[in-house]
Amino acid sequence: MIQVEARLAELESLGLRRATRLVSGPQGPRVVVDGRPALLLCSNNYLGLADHPGVREAAAEAAMRWGAGAGASRLVCGTMTPHRRLEERLAAFKGRESALLFGSGYLANMGVIAALARPGDVVFSDQLNHASIVDGCRLSRAETFVYDHCDLDHLQWAIEQAEGRAALIVTDALFSMDGDVAPLLELVEVARRRRLRLVVDEAHATGTLGPGGRGALAEAGVEDQADVIVGTLGKALGSYGAFVACDHSMARYLLNAARTFIFSTAPSPPSVAAALAALELLEELPQRVEKLAANSAALRTELGREGFDAGRSRTQIVPLVVGDAKLAVEICEAALRRGVFAQAIRPPTVPPLTSRLRLSAMASHSEAEMRGAARALAQATRDAGLEPAKLGPRRCAAAHGLEPDQRLARAA
Ligand SMILES: *Cc1c(COP(=O)(O)O)cnc(C)c1O
Repeated sequence: MIQVEARLAELESLGLRRATRLVSGPQGPRVVVDGRPALLLCSNNYLGLADHPGVREAAAEAAMRWGAGAGASRLVCGTMTPHRRLEERLAAFKGRESALLFGSGYLANMGVIAALARPGDVVFSDQLNHASIVDGCRLSRAETFVYDHCDLDHLQWAIEQAEGRAALIVTDALFSMDGDVAPLLELVEVARRRRLRLVVDEAHATGTLGPGGRGALAEAGVEDQADVIVGTLGKALGSYGAFVACDHSMARYLLNAARTFIFSTAPSPPSVAAALAALELLEELPQRVEKLAANSAALRTELGREGFDAGRSRTQIVPLVVGDAKLAVEICEAALRRGVFAQAIRPPTVPPLTSRLRLSAMASHSEAEMRGAARALAQATRDAGLEPAKLGPRRCAAAHGLEPDQRLARAA
């Protein structure tokens, strides 16, 4: 039996115990966190739509018109006018025939993977995939092969070993803790050639990458090539809930087979209406996506100027890899004292020895704020007794006597 207090004490001693922080007010570019004002640099509200007046009004109006809750699961009586409308808009946005709303991205990944893989099958999953993908693989009871991060040779080698049992490749489009993008063109090609299904999770790429924020698959020109695209309403779309986009026949199948779709209450009308308003704003003002890209570039440049190494990031997600968990927390606290809130991310969210500050830019920031943030983070790093140039994936691996790739392999 798990000894709760003992386990908590153990987590504490490892620097891995977690607790919530209180953010007062909406997810704007500046917040008050645990009573302290700070620049918000770890929210997934990438386009500033969660706190946009139009989106908030749409949620309030939907609550008055359709009520606070959907009352039932989608297949009983929980599919209401806003759900149908948003599904149609999302399908068009993703350039696919159909879209299905789920309660959350976590539920969508669990449901989709377990519906598309069964015991005896092999699922191929990128080493740095999100926890909800990992859990979907577990739920499916298929054999899961974890290929080295974005390593196509490793993937193809593994597919050959699977001898006809290979069923599915699943990958994040934009990796949530590193800010790099999967080789989607190549993955599409491998899936096609080997006749496997491909599921792409665009949780962080929807609204942030590609023309008009249509995602990383659209950026690569292959949005019709994945069997299932998963997206969340909780990040750039500023609300809560999620969706999958696919063809009609896949949608009909998932509606019958994805247990997390079938056995969970439909998303609430205010959440759905808010996401619909966010999507409309995104289509009306694609400049928001450009502003996000400009701020992200500014953040990476300014961090580089301070001596930081942002690793493989080419997006709004920028990791400052510290390595040691306690040290990451120390730098995070020092940054907060200097007016920047960037939560420390530790195992098991990231592999062992790669604790980090995971920064995320928003369109609602200014470039001057990015400059200030980089400076404050450099000072915070020195407050903790380190030089910014000592951080970064390469140096952190070297400090542990490992090659970067070896470090990753061990984590798996
Ligand atoms: C956040 C996230 C999810 C989960 O989405 P929620 O709607 O927050 O449950 C799934 N996949 C990835 C890659 C994510 O980053």
